[in-house]
Amino acid sequence: MNDDPNLESCSEEEGENLDFIRAMVKSDVDAGHNDGRVHTRFPPEPNGYLHIGHAKAILLSYSIAQEFGGKFNLRFDDTNPEKEDVEYVDSIKEDLRWLGADWEDREFYASDYFDTLYEWAQTMIREGKAYVDSLGEAEIRQYRGTVTEPGVDSPDRNRPTEESLALLEGMKNGEFDEGAYTLRAKIDMAHSNMKMRDPLIYRIRKVPHHRTGDTWNIYPLYDYAHGQSDAIEGITHSLCTLEFEVNRPLYDWFIENLPVPYEPHQTEFARLNLTYTVMSKRKLKQLVDDGVVANWSDPRMPTISGLRRLGYTSESIRRFIDTVGVAKRNSTVDLDLLKWSLREELNRTANRVMVVLRPLKVVITNYPEDQVEELECVNNPEDDGAGTRMVPFSRELWIEKDDFREEAPRKFFRLKPGKEVRLKHAYFITCDEVIKDDSGEVVELRCSYDPESRGGMSPDGRKVKGTLHWVSVPHAVEAEVRLYDNLFREPFPEEGGDFMANLNPDSLEILKDAKLEPGLAGKEPGFRCQFMRQGYFCIDSQDSRPEKMVYNRTVTLKDSWAKLEGKGKTG
Ligand code: ATP
Ligand code: MG
Repeated sequence: MNDDPNLESCSEEEGENLDFIRAMVKSDVDAGHNDGRVHTRFPPEPNGYLHIGHAKAILLSYSIAQEFGGKFNLRFDDTNPEKEDVEYVDSIKEDLRWLGADWEDREFYASDYFDTLYEWAQTMIREGKAYVDSLGEAEIRQYRGTVTEPGVDSPDRNRPTEESLALLEGMKNGEFDEGAYTLRAKIDMAHSNMKMRDPLIYRIRKVPHHRTGDTWNIYPLYDYAHGQSDAIEGITHSLCTLEFEVNRPLYDWFIENLPVPYEPHQTEFARLNLTYTVMSKRKLKQLVDDGVVANWSDPRMPTISGLRRLGYTSESIRRFIDTVGVAKRNSTVDLDLLKWSLREELNRTANRVMVVLRPLKVVITNYPEDQVEELECVNNPEDDGAGTRMVPFSRELWIEKDDFREEAPRKFFRLKPGKEVRLKHAYFITCDEVIKDDSGEVVELRCSYDPESRGGMSPDGRKVKGTLHWVSVPHAVEAEVRLYDNLFREPFPEEGGDFMANLNPDSLEILKDAKLEPGLAGKEPGFRCQFMRQGYFCIDSQDSRPEKMVYNRTVTLKDSWAKLEGKGKTG
């Protein structure tokens, strides 16, 4: 449990530490509100893919339903036909399933309720609580007043009931142009909350809808459709983010003034924001539309599908959301916490393998030409049950280019001329000779090995500091490796206004020439492992082929050398 004071936890008698939402739900249940029922929902607008912020909203509502023996609905808030698409509906369902949020057979659409919403609008007109207005959009804004000045009543505010009913019917049947009329609730043009100044209920939109086709020429606005959909479904606790706090009086007004079968209650919680990330569908869509990323599921996107393709597990995302907790004040969570949640899991579950990303050839001059030894390697030192595997060792090996420096500082414990290092699970080797091409680039190292150091054990107590991974040249499997990094180079990319100016130009590096240990041949998407000393990797679900594997770097390990170099402690 998080003990951040801003989490507003409430201590329970049993010593249970509940966040403020769970404490509220519990007290409602204890008091017998809604007959003790708990029913929550997740109401996405199908106008984009879900991001990690949505995961917080989903898991909060879903787990509360679970914890209190209640139900959880998935409801598409599809009241905005211009921007919606079935592609989004499908991706949203896939993401919820993957996160483990089960809506059973309760998949609903706000558009399922268009008939009821229309009837209730007529009821409001009959009861003098709504009217058809002929003011245009700009005039409505002008008449609304400001935070400091009250608004002015529309000349149509007292339009006779029959006239409003007839006009609404005409709006619905497509008799008028877009913008000619709106339906508005008759509340209070001087209300201190601007949302209560005769808000719009319907507007004319002559756009086909992905579910209702061209049945409707009017569409309900969010504030009208949302709460009423909650009420129709018998939702008890309607949880949403803080920006909807100002909408709550209107949410309540509709519930009080309509013949709804249930009376849901809205509660707001803080949005999830992450450093080095933008978290709004509009901005994510811009990244896709401008070609900054390949699509919504690009592994650099903070979308659930992007994180999944990058190699995140749903368990790590659930753990992350749990750790963040539920607060009532917006804040930005460090991206490192998300990475930590994953590393923590993969450290336990992912087997270690040897992969050379940027190969440099080593020839062991005193190793017999045709000899191949199978050496035993530990799969996962964190998991005794993971066992060992045999990896072939031969005279010619690949090591990382970065693991050799001709002119190396004192604390560089990897390979340098005349120095000895350990090859993991194999032997001690010493670098005797450096071979360069015409341009002066190092192309091969000639080394000698100590046959007495088999298994990487010191034969006489002499110490070597560096341990390198390696792959036998004739046995290596070729692969492409994609090194993903943060999409933005600034922790708060939106600061300064233009988030596109803060893109990280090095968010993707593609290595075409990686060498894998032979046991990795034939692995399939879904396979995760640790490339020893490099990070956690997975096989890409879209582009990998058996004959040409593609691996994604999910998350790095902490690189102690990069850290030292950054602190200037390498001399
Ligand atoms: P965005 O602002 O990213 O475009 P949205 O609010 O328009 O998102 P919806 O599909 O309307 O997206 O959101 C569905 C639910 O997800 C809403 O209840 C909303 O409060 C919640 N939600 C959206 N973003 C976040 C976030 N960053 N953290 C937590 N919950 C969120
Ligand atoms: Mg929204």
